Amino acid sequence: MLALGSLLAITTLMASGCAKTPTRAGIDPTQEGQRTLTRYRFARVMMGSRCEITLEATNEPEAAQAVGRAFDEIKRIERVLSDYDAESESMRIMELQPGIDHQISETLLEVLLVSGDIHAASGGAFDPTIGALTHLWRNSAREGEIPSQESIDNARDRIGFEHVQIDLDTHTLIFDQTGMILDFGGIGKGYAAQKAVELLTNLGYPVACVNLGGDLHLGEAPSNQPEGWRIEIVTGLGRTQTLHLKHCGIATSGDLERYYEHQGVRYSHIIDPRTGMGITQRRAATVIAPDATIADALASANSVMGERGKDQLEQAYPDASIVLVSRALEADD
Ligand code: ADP
Ligand code: MG
Repeated sequence: MLALGSLLAITTLMASGCAKTPTRAGIDPTQEGQRTLTRYRFARVMMGSRCEITLEATNEPEAAQAVGRAFDEIKRIERVLSDYDAESESMRIMELQPGIDHQISETLLEVLLVSGDIHAASGGAFDPTIGALTHLWRNSAREGEIPSQESIDNARDRIGFEHVQIDLDTHTLIFDQTGMILDFGGIGKGYAAQKAVELLTNLGYPVACVNLGGDLHLGEAPSNQPEGWRIEIVTGLGRTQTLHLKHCGIATSGDLERYYEHQGVRYSHIIDPRTGMGITQRRAATVIAPDATIADALASANSVMGERGKDQLEQAYPDASIVLVSRALEADD
């Protein structure tokens, strides 16, 4: 993702150009035994974001084939998790009858389990059952309005992780409220990036990096950069930082890119489940964690929780490190 003005972005420094078709990165070929490895990069729009996959392979057709499999995997995950697709598994499941067990896929189960952990660790700030509220805000924004208190109260009756139970043994989900909508916008891109890197590793391409709209999962370090992938964290709210990372996830979250402005107030697309309101404090959380699923979800959680939440989340996830940048709304305008 490219850094724009005062926006916060995480970008691999190599991530310039706008390749919809595969492009050869042209980075120094390196020897690995008999194999000469070259770095290739491919990009596509996936999950509503630019998805960039970089990997080392011996030749372009081989790289393109492997990356094609990774894009297919991301597409498969999107069909399970997307709340923009009425036919996705997560959308369809919540249209079924409440109060009885429904069989769910391994993918949905896995994402719900991680979501449940982050929901608990964040004291409810991260809540993927928030769909009734996010859809309400999206619809109101389209009309150039903000939702009425009555409609917010109505949507809040249809959110809450306590309304959902998962049975690990039977792979089933049961919910007790009609009109609930699952929204994995705060975790799905990190999960998909991680799964894509895992797939590439299993296919024999461990030197891989997937950047899905600023949520990144990194595999082994590039052959000519043993210290790791070069990642630039750019923030208009503070200093720019360059890091070298491998075998981990890094994600960013905040209102700096996606927000809705109404009568001079900027509402983030991230909503506080306790009030039903979009966050109005300028805030951006960047998280490095062992995997991109956790990094993505913790970044969303901390965007809701603010400064006090950082310690709480780092205690629950000691392997994660969080950088939170905040600025009062007035200071920016
Ligand atoms: P992105 O990477 O697309 O900027 P984030 O990881 O910051 O997204 O997550 C924001 C998205 O998460 C929102 O667009 C919405 O779909 C969803 N969301 C909003 N509020 C919450 C919340 N309190 N808990 C979980 N998910 C949320
Ligand atoms: Mg997130």
